[in-house]
Amino acid sequence: MTVLAPTDVLHDPLTGLSNRTLLLRQLRAMLAEAAGPAVLFVGVDRFKDINDTLGHQAGDELLRRLAERLQGAVAAEDVLARFGGDEFVVVCRGVTDERGAIAAAERVLAAVCAPVELRERPRFVTASIGVVVPSGPHEGVDELLRDADVAMHQAKSAGGGRFALFDQAMRERIIQRVQLEHDLREALRREEFVLEYQPVVALDAPRILGVEALVRWEHPRLGLMAPAAFVAIAEETGLIVELGRWVLGEACRQLARWASDPAIDLPSVSVNLSGRQVAEPDLPEVVADALRRTGAPADRLVLEVTESVLMSEAASPAAVLQRLKALGIRLVLDDFGTGYSSLNYVKRFPIDALKVDRSFVAGIAEGPEDRHILAAIVSMAAGLRLEVVAEGVETLDQARWVRELGCDAAQGYLFAAPAPASALEALLRRGLPLARLSAVWDAAPIAERGVSPDGGASPDGEHAADEQTVPLGEAAEALGLSTSTLRRWADSGRIRAVRTAGGHRRFPVSELQRLKSAPALLAPPALRLTPLPSAPLIAVHALLAQDGGPIAGAAARLIYDDGTRTGWLSSADAEPHLERWACETAAACQAGDYDAAIDAMRALMRQGRYAGASLVERELFAERCGDLVLHRLQERSVERAQLVGARRLFVRLRQELAREAPAGV
Ligand code: C2E
Ligand code: MG
Ligand code: MG
Repeated sequence: MTVLAPTDVLHDPLTGLSNRTLLLRQLRAMLAEAAGPAVLFVGVDRFKDINDTLGHQAGDELLRRLAERLQGAVAAEDVLARFGGDEFVVVCRGVTDERGAIAAAERVLAAVCAPVELRERPRFVTASIGVVVPSGPHEGVDELLRDADVAMHQAKSAGGGRFALFDQAMRERIIQRVQLEHDLREALRREEFVLEYQPVVALDAPRILGVEALVRWEHPRLGLMAPAAFVAIAEETGLIVELGRWVLGEACRQLARWASDPAIDLPSVSVNLSGRQVAEPDLPEVVADALRRTGAPADRLVLEVTESVLMSEAASPAAVLQRLKALGIRLVLDDFGTGYSSLNYVKRFPIDALKVDRSFVAGIAEGPEDRHILAAIVSMAAGLRLEVVAEGVETLDQARWVRELGCDAAQGYLFAAPAPASALEALLRRGLPLARLSAVWDAAPIAERGVSPDGGASPDGEHAADEQTVPLGEAAEALGLSTSTLRRWADSGRIRAVRTAGGHRRFPVSELQRLKSAPALLAPPALRLTPLPSAPLIAVHALLAQDGGPIAGAAARLIYDDGTRTGWLSSADAEPHLERWACETAAACQAGDYDAAIDAMRALMRQGRYAGASLVERELFAERCGDLVLHRLQERSVERAQLVGARRLFVRLRQELAREAPAGV
């Protein structure tokens, strides 16, 4: 294939490849003469970012370089065209089966996904490829290209840097989705939505603190649908704003009814808000209007938002939340722990309570990891005077653990599943059958029963009634620790404590003797290393491959808060090292080889140490980098598993630096 002079009307002037007109003509001819050839639709991942950050000249240069690479990767008889923008199409003339098409896609992917020198620096570029193998002679050019395009978007939304084969299931999913979107538009008019309500229960005594309204869709053909099946579509299409208004109105109407019923004692009703709703500047007016229209008491309305709402840069969530608070309602941060807002960040918003995501509750009865996380959240929340609600409590053991670790309230199938208002109303009148769960509230604290939050039985199991004990202050003094440290040790089971009837802790003399007799037990605990992710972090790979250098540079500048001071990490000398770190970490994330990521961080830090960066600078760099990466991933709405994995990786990188610090300052 030769690159023609960029003058004729059938070639792209920038790359010299066939243009769309010529491609369509060639493809049509090929389809007419034989079984359809495989088509690869190649889209450069996040090309817009390159254009935006490096400028259009660099963008053009990148396209020219990619065109050259593509030419090297396709067979001589293939057709290669620039379809438009950052999209290329390869028609593999000799390939008519899936196997051959996949081999061709792999070749193209390998050629494209490699560093490109732009503005004198290597930039990692990735592409997504949609692959179509025509199933029969009936397929036209338009259908082929459309299907390939669909598959390419599928590859992109799976994180990029990969190919996806178009199949029948994909086509059916698209048809279903389009249908669902259409149905959703009709559903509001046809009044197909209903609310269910799920109780939130206090953990200090068996009483109901409120109910959460959860929307369901009574689809005429598909039956009762959970929000997971339609809320995301409603968000993408903007219908969520209208749906959210309906939910608010309906929940307020129900709240007003229950509030005026003397036989029902219900402190609150909570409603979930989506990010799109919070971005609407008139949300406070919409809420005020719903309260006014229905006569619902504002102080019994709770609104739930997620962390991503707080992190969004587009709107001004603080101002909107402040105006909502001014109405007298309460605000809860939902699914806490799945996003990446540190509590330090949450402090800036007028939040009253946190709902800890159920993924932290799920493993709480099995082992210490989730317990440590929950204990840390509870203690930080206490400092900020936030209440903590545990979500998704399904078993008695989980309920006891969340109570033991200091949560104020819980919600979950153990207490009650979401139910329609009428069913719940009957329960509210009679009182939820919480008596059957009396073990949640009556049981002695777990630590006293001989199980420490670390999961092991404490040394002497049951507490003997005549055991000699001393109060907290005295025990702390005897061990040479602060009272707060000792309290923490008791919480984590490092020392056994017993509680008096008044709830005060006392420490068995035998425990003090045990700790004093073995000085090693009083030493600071060894660092508990966070487990590394178990699968490749494609989202981090794509992010760092594309933008790693600028992200690392931004993290380095953030270390010096006031922006006036500089250090090695934010100097020009560090730039190539930061780029290299980003490239190597990206590659490690793609391969799932996290030892390589740890090595890359070590290499960067070693360089920093030689160049005079202090230990604090180095640790802060790892922390800020993690913050930025997670923030950017959130903006890209990557899957939860990828966010959790990324967070783990960066926490671990920091821990590894901390472990090395004493030897390598
Ligand atoms: P969420 O606000 O975190 O609601 C809690 C979800 O956990 C509910 O799922 C609830 O049924 C489920 N759940 C409660 N207890 C348990 C348990 O013990 N185990 C397990 N595995 N799950 C439990 P649901 O109703 O499917 O709602 C899912 C999400 O959809 C909600 O999560 C919320 O983010 C969103 N959503 C629900 N209603 C609305 C709404 O009216 N507007 C908006 N914007 N989002 C809504
Ligand atoms: Mg919620
Ligand atoms: Mg939640």
